[in-house]
Amino acid sequence: MDLGLKGRKALVCAASKGMGRGCAEALAREGCEVWITARHADVLEATAASIRKATGARVTAVTGDIATEAGRQAALAACPEPDILVNNAGGPPTGDFRNFTRQDWDAALEANMLAPIFLIKATIDAMTRRGFGRIVNITSVTVKQPFASLALSNGARSGLTGFIAGLAREVARHNVTVNNLLPGSIATDRSEVFVASHAKARGISREAALAELEKEIPAGRFGTPEEFGEACAFLCSVQAGYITGQNILIDGGAYPGTF
Ligand code: NAD
Repeated sequence: MDLGLKGRKALVCAASKGMGRGCAEALAREGCEVWITARHADVLEATAASIRKATGARVTAVTGDIATEAGRQAALAACPEPDILVNNAGGPPTGDFRNFTRQDWDAALEANMLAPIFLIKATIDAMTRRGFGRIVNITSVTVKQPFASLALSNGARSGLTGFIAGLAREVARHNVTVNNLLPGSIATDRSEVFVASHAKARGISREAALAELEKEIPAGRFGTPEEFGEACAFLCSVQAGYITGQNILIDGGAYPGTF
């Protein structure tokens, strides 16, 4: 299916690895011009080169921390009027909330709630004026199924989710959609940390820990950044123009509820 995205400009945040990269590559394959951001220039440039080679798309790397005003300004200076904005940043640390400081909470809110809100604020009015816009926020299954040890993620991402629910309805009539993609277990560097900590807690090998975790997922495996990226590209498509304000799980069926 042609997703109708040829020539669209896509700004994909935190995209040198993992799901951000998956989204950038899928959008590039659909003919978008893509800007990718991350904090480390060398890894980011290598990713940009690899996406260019795989897709033939124009890909620009913008180095910076998206959780800071300076990082966001750099991204917006390079791509001031994206048609597509994919918000993403690294996840906060896990732990007992009793041990988290004010600084920990501020960092989680900056990265996983305020960074997307400020990037949306800077770009959405131009999208409504042009009559096309697609915003996808990478959040987490923790929005629907919170875990106590992911207190920072539960809190910060739920704040973003509430904000998006109101915003999506305000801009829908201008063909601007705003949706959240909720990863369950996707095979990335981040999920490797969880596999390692499960292995340590159970006193078993990494492979045995992974097998235990996979057994809990109805699909019987972790998802891939590539299939996550394809879902993101579909949400950005012309065909998905009537899907907005949604929280869509990509979790291989792991979330057990009906709604
Ligand atoms: P990852 O570690 O594989 O990749 C993260 C990417 O973001 C890297 O390119 C990194 O350089 C970049 N990055 C991190 N912080 C940044 C910042 N402040 N500014 C700019 N770039 C930054 O991670 P992932 O697994 O793709 O996770 C993406 C998001 O999804 C995270 O917030 C994570 O917590 C969340 N999540 C992941 C899973 C999973 O199973 N992988 C599940 C639920 C939620």
